[in-house]
Amino acid sequence: MRSRIMRAASRPTTKAEAKNFVGAVLSDPVYAPEQPSRLRASRVTFMPGGRTNWHKHAVGQVLYVLSGVGRYQLEGEPVQAILPGDTVVIPPNARHWHGSAPDSMMCHLAMSETNDKGEATRWFEPVSDADYAKPPAKVE
Ligand code: MN
Repeated sequence: MRSRIMRAASRPTTKAEAKNFVGAVLSDPVYAPEQPSRLRASRVTFMPGGRTNWHKHAVGQVLYVLSGVGRYQLEGEPVQAILPGDTVVIPPNARHWHGSAPDSMMCHLAMSETNDKGEATRWFEPVSDADYAKPPAKVE
């Protein structure tokens, strides 16, 4: 790890891998792990209706919502609305998904770490339209 500024213009936006996402999802790299750091950070932009498949993170994940209106669901719990300024804390090995609201985009900073074995994210099946369409719980 050496000191430098990684300029935005040198890191093009990519489309998120279609096999792990539903809808249009764009990813901008922020930081990829460099010894001794295990941090990976990405700015992810979901078009309306866009969401991740169900997945798990070996060491958990932290999301920080930058703009728009989003959704987050931990398996077995209600769908939650997430809004700019919210931080979502996702425990290790917990099945979950995140994405935009059906009629709004959402952009979040996603931060996670690899474990001792270099494992980070395990991907599963897409979130069904029925699960995605469930109204979110009231924000407390
Ligand atoms: Mn996640």
